[in-house]
Amino acid sequence: MDWQVLQVVHRLGATPQHKLAEHIGRQRSTINGAVQRLLASGWLARAGRSGTGRGRPAILLAVERDAGCFAGIDIAASELHIALVGADGALLDDVSAPLGDDRTLPAVMDQIDLNLRGLLSRAGARPDRLLGVWAGVGGAVDHHGVVVTCASLGWHNEPLGDTLANRCGCKVLVQGSAPVMNAAAEALMGAGRDAESLVYFHAGRGISARFVQRGQQLAGATQRAGELGHVVVEPGGPACACGNRGCLEAVASGPAIVESLRRLPDSGLPASVVKLVRDSNGCPASKIVGAAHREWSGEVGDPLTELFSRATNHLAMGAAMAVAAYDPQVLVLGGYLFENNVGLLDAVRAALEKMVLDWDTRGLDVVEGEVISQNRAVGGAAEMCQRFWANPRGVVVG
Ligand SMILES: [Zn+2]
Repeated sequence: MDWQVLQVVHRLGATPQHKLAEHIGRQRSTINGAVQRLLASGWLARAGRSGTGRGRPAILLAVERDAGCFAGIDIAASELHIALVGADGALLDDVSAPLGDDRTLPAVMDQIDLNLRGLLSRAGARPDRLLGVWAGVGGAVDHHGVVVTCASLGWHNEPLGDTLANRCGCKVLVQGSAPVMNAAAEALMGAGRDAESLVYFHAGRGISARFVQRGQQLAGATQRAGELGHVVVEPGGPACACGNRGCLEAVASGPAIVESLRRLPDSGLPASVVKLVRDSNGCPASKIVGAAHREWSGEVGDPLTELFSRATNHLAMGAAMAVAAYDPQVLVLGGYLFENNVGLLDAVRAALEKMVLDWDTRGLDVVEGEVISQNRAVGGAAEMCQRFWANPRGVVVG
């Protein structure tokens, strides 16, 4: 009961107590008991009185902003970014620090500890009111929060989730992929901050779309909503890591484009691109695609023209499917394929105009993502906050 009352107050904002009974459909005395317990435990606060109506003004109840907080921790290749948001999802503070030379899990944990404690103390938040932590790391992570591999940190099978949960004493979510966090950060403080609804279309190592409506991300029944990367767009096409053939990701992701570039003869590529593509040290896909796109003349007969028009069309198809499915106000194009690559962004936008139904009357805003890595931690913290409000049961007793 208590958590239900808290959830409703969070949703409605400052609310008189008698409204709660209407919303929850329980007796006033039951609601009153829950409200008294929540006031005593510091989850609810009195937030003034309702003004203009006839009769006695009612005391308004609101969620106590300091009732809890959520942390986002982004462990990048050489830096640590940590952000803290309050119970209402507002950013309290954030910090970035270079990782020390020792990148083992215990050493990184000590650095996290130190920075997180500093943030909590600056924000005046009690460590025991840390209600959720999201940690992101660039690598493969299993369902138990174990980092299976993270090349940049040299981690193999490191139990990041359990270690963090023990230190922080709260629920911890570990993610190896960025799109969910990027979408949350774009909605909260990035390119979609003024939009009621947005689709974040991510094209980098993978391809996916996330839908956010009024700050709420659609996750789906199995957290797979928006996994467009594995929709088959070329039956019988190139093999995909998922085991299928011709998935969107297998033809238009960063690695797929690099693979297509590798298959072209050197004579068909600009010298600077050949150097990157044949680099035995493994040049990052983002750099290769960016360089190839800048060098592309756009002339008919240029092998790059065929390669990039195919990739552009497939990316636009993916984004158009997302727009058709979710009908957003704003479409944010993010991920390394679009970063610092205005050419590709414009090409996809132009292709979209021809693919999206009722383009002229829809008023869809297609914008470049603004989230930089520091903001991913903020997005992670905001995401944890949202997940808490979707189901506060278990944390709020009663
Ligand atoms: Zn696939």
